[in-house]
Amino acid sequence: MSTAIADSAFAPGPLFDRVAIIGIGLIGSSLARALAEYEIARQVVCADRSPEVCAKALELGIVAEASTDPAAALAGADLVVLATPVGSYAAVGEAIGPLLKPGTIVTDVGSVKQAALRDIGPHLPDGVPLIPGHPVAGTEHSGPEAGFATLFQGRWCILTPPTGSDRQALERVTELWRRVGSTVEIMEASHHDRVLAITSHLPHLIAYTIVGTASDLEEDTKSEVIKFSAGGFRDFTRIAASDPVMWRDIFLNNREAVLEILQRFTEDLTALQRSIRWGEGQQLQDHFTKTRAVRRGIIDAKQA
Ligand code: NAP
Repeated sequence: MSTAIADSAFAPGPLFDRVAIIGIGLIGSSLARALAEYEIARQVVCADRSPEVCAKALELGIVAEASTDPAAALAGADLVVLATPVGSYAAVGEAIGPLLKPGTIVTDVGSVKQAALRDIGPHLPDGVPLIPGHPVAGTEHSGPEAGFATLFQGRWCILTPPTGSDRQALERVTELWRRVGSTVEIMEASHHDRVLAITSHLPHLIAYTIVGTASDLEEDTKSEVIKFSAGGFRDFTRIAASDPVMWRDIFLNNREAVLEILQRFTEDLTALQRSIRWGEGQQLQDHFTKTRAVRRGIIDAKQA
C-alpha cells in the first residue's frame, strides 16, 4: 500500500529558484520559514486572499513578496504549494491553472488527498505535474504568526502522486520534505484518506463532540468543566480549538472514509457501554491494556 523512497541523489544547494506558497497560514508560513532557513529555495513568495495576512507575512520577513493576486506570486515560480483549506482547492486550481508554465511543479499540504487530485488536477495544463502531499504535523493554531521552521522535523510527510507521475518532480518534492526534517512515505490517495480518517479525523470529531456536549451543559456545570479540566478534558479542548474552516473542509472532503470509521467506532463504543452496564470488568481491563500498548508503540516510534 505504501512505499518508502530510496536515499537522495541531490547535490547540496537550493532545490528550487522560486517557491510560491498559496495561503500563508500555519503550514504555509512554517514551510516558508523552513525553505529559507535550510536554503532549500532561493526565493519564497506567497499569495493569500487576505491583504492583512500578506502584510503580516512581509512584516515577519518570511517571504520576499506577498500579494492577494496569485499571478504575481506564480510569475517565475518553479514550485507552487497550495496551503489553503481543502475546500478552496477547486477555486484556487481554476485561478492558477491558466497561469502555470510547463515545467512548474504543483504540490499541496492538504489533509485530504483524493480531493486534491480531484479538485486541482483537472485545472493543470500539460507539463505541470501535481504531486499532492500531507505533512503529518501541525498545531491547533492558525495564521502566519503561528508557524515555525522546525514544525516538520521528525514528522512524516505522505505524498500521494497519481499513477504515471513525473519521476523527477516526485523526487524533488520528496527531497524538499526530507530537507525540512520529515520522513517521506508514498501511498495511494485513497489509502491515505482511510488511514488519516482513523488517526486524525475521527479524534478531532470526538474532541469537537465532547467539548460541544460539555459547553451545552448548564452554566454551573460549565464552570466545573473548566475547573477540573486537567482530568483528561483539557487535551480534548486543545484539539477542539483547531481551525473550524479547515476541519469543516476535511470532514466534507473525506466523507466516505470518516463515515465508515465512525460506524466502526460507534459499534466499539457500544460494546464498551455494554461492558460497563453488565459489570464486565475483565473485558474493560483487557481493552484498556491493549490500548496502553498502542501508546507505548507510538512513543517507541518517536511520534508522541
Ligand atoms: P491557516 O493557518 O488557516 O491558513 C490558511 C490560509 O489560507 C489563511 O491565511 C487563509 O486566509 C488562506 N486562504 C483561504 N482560502 C484561500 C484562497 N482561496 N486563496 C488564497 N488564500 C486562501 O490553515 P493551516 O492550518 O495552515 O492549513 C492549511 C492547509 O494545511 C489545509 O489544507 C490543512 O488541511 C493542511 N494541514 C493543516 C495542518 C494543521 O495542523 N493545521 C496539518 C497538516 C496539514 P483566511 O484567513 O482569510 O481564510
